[in-house]
Amino acid sequence: MLCTDCQSGYHAPYDRFERMAANPEVPSFLMRCKHCGALWNETSGVPELLTRTHARGLYTRARI
Ligand SMILES: [Zn+2]
Repeated sequence: MLCTDCQSGYHAPYDRFERMAANPEVPSFLMRCKHCGALWNETSGVPELLTRTHARGLYTRARI
């Protein structure tokens, strides 16, 4: 279940997220909501909600 904030998207307050991994060459960042555990892919474009499987594929070295 997504928390109320994640249900409406990736937005402030950003301190609810912790950075789990990064792909500096893209660049992109794997962010995890501390409230509900949702995984978000933060890029230069629109942030994307990721499944755990998708996140593991994008961030192969992340411990998720
Ligand atoms: Zn959340």
